[in-house]
Amino acid sequence: MSKDVRATVAELADQGVVGITVAWADNNGITRSRTVPPRGLPSAVRTGIGVTPPCAVFDSHDAITFGHKGLGTPSGDVRLVPEADRIVRLSGQSGFAWAPGRLVAADGSDWPYDPRGVLERQVARAAAAGLTVRAGYEIEFQLTAADAGEFRPVHDGPSYGPLRTLAVDGFAEQLLRDLDHNGIGVHQFHGEYGPGQFELSITAQDPLTAADQQLLARQTIHAAARTHGLRASFAPLVETGTVGNGWHLHTSISRDEVNLLEGGSGPHGLTDDGAAYLAGLLRDLPAVLAVTAPSVASLLRRRPGFWSGAYGFWGPENREAALRLVPGSPFLGAGRANVELKPSDASANPYLALAVVIAAGIAGVEDRLTPPDPVQQDPGTWTDAERAAAGIRLLPSTVDEQLAALAGNARISAVLGAELADAFRAVRESDAAWAAQRSPDEVVAGHRWLY
Ligand code: GLU
Ligand code: MG
Repeated sequence: MSKDVRATVAELADQGVVGITVAWADNNGITRSRTVPPRGLPSAVRTGIGVTPPCAVFDSHDAITFGHKGLGTPSGDVRLVPEADRIVRLSGQSGFAWAPGRLVAADGSDWPYDPRGVLERQVARAAAAGLTVRAGYEIEFQLTAADAGEFRPVHDGPSYGPLRTLAVDGFAEQLLRDLDHNGIGVHQFHGEYGPGQFELSITAQDPLTAADQQLLARQTIHAAARTHGLRASFAPLVETGTVGNGWHLHTSISRDEVNLLEGGSGPHGLTDDGAAYLAGLLRDLPAVLAVTAPSVASLLRRRPGFWSGAYGFWGPENREAALRLVPGSPFLGAGRANVELKPSDASANPYLALAVVIAAGIAGVEDRLTPPDPVQQDPGTWTDAERAAAGIRLLPSTVDEQLAALAGNARISAVLGAELADAFRAVRESDAAWAAQRSPDEVVAGHRWLY
């Protein structure tokens, strides 16, 4: 046992921690976990915790699909290995600590379905090109009374107003304190537009930390909500006919610590490489969103006019654009420019989502792409002919269209690798078969408490 792990075990035991929850995200964006006592940590770090391989072919409703040949039997074992240097004692669940985990094969070799490994490869690829990506999530969610049964929003009152946060004062206070203790940087927190809706923006990090913290933020929000008699829904859509919950993904790209999305001579201060990064994202957007907003609930969320990225275009500070450039300015100071991906939500595995975003953007830089002209309006208010003239199309809006976009894009499919890409397809098809027998209201209800 390494000295560090021994010290961690002693420290956690001293703090009264009885369990370390090791978490990963599956192909539905659902967090799965195993919990071990502190004295079990050394062996977990050395040889992992047993997990069933079909975890990669669970659909959103915990059914195992046998539509992917590679994992077609109930036999086998994979090992969940905690990232020991990322263990956090959970403020808000004082008896527990938390760590992200990686899934390895039973012999310790790489397991092709491990999402962390997929992201690590793209981070390494960016580094080999001399590029660094930073990423930050904006997390929208809706709160209801825990015992309400049906969803009953915790507030009304003006959107973005302090009355919305006052309605959940104790929760908000605990949440901000717990996030700070759990090492998650907060940009801002506010009452959002939808019924019972809030938004938490977390500070940008390296991609692996951003994905880890996205999972930890969920845990922290759920725990604070439970303590205050509330229940949080992160579902892409909580009720039909209302706004959805986007988990907008902001990324920036830099070389030698200089942000390439600002300070250039291109449109809105983009450098040539920064413009190429944006153009790469735009080129691969249909396949990217098959991973970043993959569920049948995602499709119900992404509607024109709901600021959720229904059309494939970009625009500076345009909330209706799938890719919103947040330009830099002298007032904001150096390093702040980023690109926001709107078609991104809680049903995405954050490791896979970041991996495909990085791959698309870096490929744009490598291919020296230039983006089309930006759009400042809402193309949903235009005629078909106007949209056609501007080359603006609806992004995939059915499971079949999403899967075709992914399968038809060798660059993005290769990011997942053949085995994982096929497992991902099988899971999406299983979800689609489930949804085909249900009304939109039932589909929305079936996803409400999954994330
Ligand atoms: N709630 C919207 C969504 O589904 C986003 C609103 C906003 O831009 O903050 O993505
Ligand atoms: Mg928002």
